[in-house]
Amino acid sequence: MPTLSKISRRGLIGAVPALGATAYLSGAASVQADPMRSPSLRAIHRFNIGTIKVAIIDDARFTFPAPMFAANHPDGTVEPFFEKYGLPAETVSLHMQVTYIETGSHKVLLDTGMGDITFPGNEPDNGRLLSGLEAIAVSPEDITDVILSHGHPDHIGSCSRNGEPMFKNAHYHLPPNELEFWTQKPGDEQSFMNMMLSVGVAQLEPIRSLIQPYATDEEIVPGITAISAPGHTLGHHAFLLHDGDDKLLHLMDAAVHYLVGPEEPDWALAVEMDQTAAADTRRKLFKQASEENLMVAGYHFPFPGIGKIIPQQHAWRFVPMQTS
Ligand SMILES: [Zn+2]
Repeated sequence: MPTLSKISRRGLIGAVPALGATAYLSGAASVQADPMRSPSLRAIHRFNIGTIKVAIIDDARFTFPAPMFAANHPDGTVEPFFEKYGLPAETVSLHMQVTYIETGSHKVLLDTGMGDITFPGNEPDNGRLLSGLEAIAVSPEDITDVILSHGHPDHIGSCSRNGEPMFKNAHYHLPPNELEFWTQKPGDEQSFMNMMLSVGVAQLEPIRSLIQPYATDEEIVPGITAISAPGHTLGHHAFLLHDGDDKLLHLMDAAVHYLVGPEEPDWALAVEMDQTAAADTRRKLFKQASEENLMVAGYHFPFPGIGKIIPQQHAWRFVPMQTS
C-alpha cells in the first residue's frame, strides 16, 4: 500500500504540467540531503579526443514545464513543436551528465552535477557523479581541477559536502562575475531564484579559497579552452576540448534542449539572464560547429549527449552520434 508521503509526492508531480513557467519559478523547492538515498551508477560513456581521455557520467534527470522553453513567446508556442516529434507537450524531461577528463597530468571535471538538490515537482533522481567516478577508479581526492561553466544549482551541486570542499585537492575554476552573483545573500521569500542563491552560497562559499578565476579564451588546463557563451547566465562559458585536429565543443548550457536549442535558437529558456545574448551565443556556436564539422556535447542532451550540428532551414539540427 502506498504511503501518505508517496501519495502526496505523486500529487505534486501530477500538478506540474498544469503549472506555467512563472508559477514554476515562484514555486517551492527542495534543497535537502536524503540520507536514505544512495544514487547508484546508471551510465558512463568513454572516448578519446586525440590523447585526451573523456568519460561522460550520467548524473541526473529532471523535468521542467514545457512553456519554460519559449519564455519570450506567447502561450501555446512550444506545444506544437514537441507534438511534432511525438514528445510530451506539457512537461520536458532533461538529462544531465558530468564530463570527466584526463589531459596530461590533470584529472578534470566540467561542472559537478546536482548533488543532493531536487528541483520543484521532481522525485530525487540525481547525484550519480561519485558512483560514476568510483566505477572508473577515480576518487574525489584524485581530481586536480573542477572547471565550472556557471553557478546554476544543477552544475555546482557537488562542489561541497557538509560545508567542506568535495574535491579537496582540486583547483576550482570559475569566472569572477559568476562567483560574485551566485554567492549573494538570498531573500527570505520562497522563489526559484532564492533557491538557486541558497545553493550558490552553500556550494561555493566552502570552496572560495580554492577558486582560480578564468577568462574567455583562456586555456585553463592543457586542451581545455574557455569559449565565450554569455546569456544563460552573465558569465556562462562553453569549452573547447582539443588535441591537434581532434576537437569537441562542449556547449554546456548554451543550448539546454537538444531540439529546441538548435532549431529555434531565439526561443528563450525562462531562467536565461540575458535572452538576447543567449540567442546570439546559440547562433554563434551552432554556426561554428556546423561550418567546422565539430563534434559537440550538451550537458542536458539525452545521454551521452554527443553529436554534430547540421544546417536546417532557418537554423540547425542536432544529430546524435557515437564517438570512438
Ligand atoms: Zn543546466
